[in-house]
Amino acid sequence: MPDFRVEFFPFANINNTIRLREGRLLVRISDLLEGAPETVLESIAHILLAKIYRKPIERLHNTRYRRYVSSHEMANKSHLVRQVRGRKLVGPAKGHVYDLEAIFDDLNSRFFNGLLGRPQMTWSRDHARNALGHYDPAHNTIVVSRVFDHGRVPRYAVEYIVYHEMLHLKYPVKLRGSRRCVHPPEFQAEENLFPHLEEAKKFLKVL
Ligand SMILES: [Zn+2]
Repeated sequence: MPDFRVEFFPFANINNTIRLREGRLLVRISDLLEGAPETVLESIAHILLAKIYRKPIERLHNTRYRRYVSSHEMANKSHLVRQVRGRKLVGPAKGHVYDLEAIFDDLNSRFFNGLLGRPQMTWSRDHARNALGHYDPAHNTIVVSRVFDHGRVPRYAVEYIVYHEMLHLKYPVKLRGSRRCVHPPEFQAEENLFPHLEEAKKFLKVL
């Protein structure tokens, strides 16, 4: 059996490749499939191995893979990512469409009397995280998923993500081992003050 090297790779769309190089099998799986159920990853392995060794692909694996990729959520994700990728990165806070520092400063003066100290603002390096954004207290950084730095994404949706993370800044919680985000009642009450809350939630659910 040859050596394997398997990695997730930021293809512009959902794509998986396998190559034999100097006796080594190089496998690249779309990073959009990171977090896919293990059965789906097994099916991808089956399909890729069948391809390179010219064996028939079992229908079960083909069906399972196709079904997963065409599922609503995946299709939307890949559609947005396809449009966003292939451009140069501009800077940590300034995206192609939205400038996270400007959004933070604006929200800070509108809702927090300018009292919050601005943490490092950055877009996530990858596109396909389940999280919309998160606040990392260890590095004092607000990270927003790069998927949302796109003209098809309304400004209020990005603002809502940043606003939510600003509330985490305002209401810090002690984490006991878990990275789950905790929303105490005062957090939730203040979140409800955000204008366009319903539209933002509705839009973000679509992604
Ligand atoms: Zn949260």
